[in-house]
Amino acid sequence: GPSPHPKGMNRTVARIVEGTPVMEGEGVLVHRPFPSAQGLRDFDPFLLLDEMGPLELPANAAKGFPDHPHRGFETVTYMLSGRFEHRDSYGHAGKIEAGDVQWMTAGSGLVHSETPETEFRKTGGRMHGFQIWVNLPRRDKMMAPRYQEVPKAQIPEGRSEDGRVAVKVIAGESLGAKAVIDTRIPIQYLHFTIEPGAAMEQPVPKSENAFVYVFAGAAVLDGQRVDRHHLAVFQRNGDNIRIEAAADSGEPLQVLLLAAEPIGEPVARYGPFVMNTREEIEQAFDDYRSGRMGTIAH
Ligand code: FE
Repeated sequence: GPSPHPKGMNRTVARIVEGTPVMEGEGVLVHRPFPSAQGLRDFDPFLLLDEMGPLELPANAAKGFPDHPHRGFETVTYMLSGRFEHRDSYGHAGKIEAGDVQWMTAGSGLVHSETPETEFRKTGGRMHGFQIWVNLPRRDKMMAPRYQEVPKAQIPEGRSEDGRVAVKVIAGESLGAKAVIDTRIPIQYLHFTIEPGAAMEQPVPKSENAFVYVFAGAAVLDGQRVDRHHLAVFQRNGDNIRIEAAADSGEPLQVLLLAAEPIGEPVARYGPFVMNTREEIEQAFDDYRSGRMGTIAH
């Protein structure tokens, strides 16, 4: 007989945004679908999405992001190729290699640098990765900074029964795999690889904002073709997000699916600080300038 629980509805696409090429830091090419002046300003609770590269870097050409502060949100770095080094004003240091994730909760603030790892800079090679910024709710904006650094081998992976869909679960849950990273609000951060012609339906509660960013191959989302460097924003009108890999694409589709409960608080944003009020932004600048976020010894 018919199931007592009707199958959830697939969400429709609200809009499609192209990532704008931007030079960041010392001159790192990123594709940035948001924020942009013309398009999407932010996407509660996501504040920024940067695809770094992909670039084939010659020897000694790799660039990075020298000392800069953050307060009031989280930066999440996911490398696909290449290696970065990280240092902060509290003496924390580490490397982020291909497949690794660094989930940094800046909270009350720190100064850090994100630079190409010394050996990678020397040899050059392929650089490709993502950095997203996730807002923190008011109650967590001034929490002590924390790091969750997860090497590639510890990122859970799921696979469909027919083997045509694979997922790396950075946050949330998919295809039987559950993330090891803890988030302050419910967040899903999923990296899907889908063979041409195959499809996936990911449950996403109606209460969550969600988008899909295509970075390899081509997708069909809600009947529309979506090529690489494009982001599709979904309506909150269903419980599933259906992702199809275009059958005529010569390579597997690779996408990020990001979804989260919106925070719904006022956003005061200036450069590396994201707070609730303008006064809190001024305080952040004051604290940074007077060294209360620390400095990195060189
Ligand atoms: Fe940073």
